[in-house]
Formats: sequence, C-alpha cells, structure tokens
Amino acid sequence: MMTEASIAPGPNDGRAADRQRMLDEIIAIASESVENHPAVALDPGVLSVMRRVPRHEFVPGVRRHAAYRDSPLDIGDGQTISQPFMVALMTSLLHLKPSDRVLEIGTGCGYQTAILAELAGEVFTVEIVESLAKRAATMLKHMGYANVHTRIGDGNSGWPEAAPFDCIIVTAAPDRMPDAIVAQLKEGGRMVIPVGGNEQTLKVVTKQGGGQISEGDIMPVRFVPFTRDAG
Ligand code: SAH
Repeated sequence: MMTEASIAPGPNDGRAADRQRMLDEIIAIASESVENHPAVALDPGVLSVMRRVPRHEFVPGVRRHAAYRDSPLDIGDGQTISQPFMVALMTSLLHLKPSDRVLEIGTGCGYQTAILAELAGEVFTVEIVESLAKRAATMLKHMGYANVHTRIGDGNSGWPEAAPFDCIIVTAAPDRMPDAIVAQLKEGGRMVIPVGGNEQTLKVVTKQGGGQISEGDIMPVRFVPFTRDAG
C-alpha cells in the first residue's frame, strides 16, 4: 500500500480541478444508475484515491486533454482505457483491504492498476498486448508503485505462481465465466468481471469457505472482448 506522500499528489499538477469534476460526474452517474441497478455502490476510499492519482499521465499524449472526461478513451492497438465511473465501481465492488493480493487481467494503460496499488498490498497484472504492457509497466514504475508486478501474456491462465488471490478484477469481457481464473480466487475472495458477448453484465463472484461460488449481477456494461492467445 502506498502512502499519501509517495505519489505526486494532485494539487500541484494543475489538474486537481479536472479530477474533482471527474469525481462529480462519477458520483452523478452512480446515483442515476442505482435507481435501476441497486447493487451499484461507490466506496469513498476509492473516490479519494481517484481524486489524487494523475489519470492524464496514463493516457497517450494526443488524448491527454480528455483524460478527466468520464468516458472510455482510445489508448492505441484497438484498446481503450476504461471509463472512470467503471474504474470507481469495479474497485469499490472488490472491498480491498491493505493486505490484499490482487490479480488484474487487462492492464491496458495501467490507470486501474495504480488505483488498485494504492488500496491493496500487492497487485499482479497481466496484459496480452505487448506495447501496452510495456508502456504501463514503465509508467507504474516511474510513479513509484513498487507493489505492482506486471506480465505480458494471455490472462486466460491467470497468474498460477502467485495464486490464490484475495481479489481478482478482469477488465475485458469473456463470453463465459472463465473457470481457470475463478480457480485462482481464495476462499472468502471476490472477483469483479464483465461477462457476455454482445450483451455483457458486470458480475461479482464470491468464493465461500469450502469453495462454493456465488454470482451477483451488478449492471449491463460494454467492455472490449477478452481475447485468447492464438499460439
Ligand atoms: N483497465 C485497463 C484496460 C481496459 S481495456 C484500462 O483502464 O486502461 C482491456 C484490456 O484487456 C486491453 O488492454 C486488452 O488488450 C486486454 N486483454 C484482452 N484480452 C486479454 C487477455 N486474454 N489477457 C490479458 N489481457 C487481455
């Protein structure tokens, strides 16, 4: 877990007001969504981290002006950086503790990774697109996140050597619930994942003592597809 002092805080980077606006938008979307999807809930601890992590640093230069809009952004290689509301919601649903070991599948630009690293003990993150993985790893290191482990590879196999995990977050959508990844969740652990083809649903998976799995639906979502290594 990072301390407040260990990352350049917002106030001096000239983007604090932009971040506050982004937070206001996230909170507004959450309160609209909760009418139809009562499981939508944001954690104030997550919002306070998002108030200071410099999202624009993770966004490629040409898109940086839009870094604090509450929308997904193109990050190259046909991939997108998730909408800030979705980052806030998915992270909130994990109920992270400072001692947690977390697996993230789909590092993308690394912004979600940074939010996890602020709130959890250790983060293991896998990205299949090499250029994105390298760029995110460089940025996370540059920002001082010593508790993040990055890997280039196919997240379909999770990260077996570091399993089991207290929490798992998947930021691309597989057609079906991936059993190999659920298997890497600790008893008592939680996973947040979008599942489905054209119609996707954000789900929370919990594993009880004895390994029993239960699933809850949060809301309909749109994520890039969870791909599979051709080789
Ligand atoms: N959370 C990130 C990324 C969102 S896009 C962000 O906000 O920036 C989803 C990412 O999942 C993409 O970068 C995509 O390349 C990656 N991805 C898709 N299938 C994958 C797989 N099988 N293994 C690892 N990463 C995958």
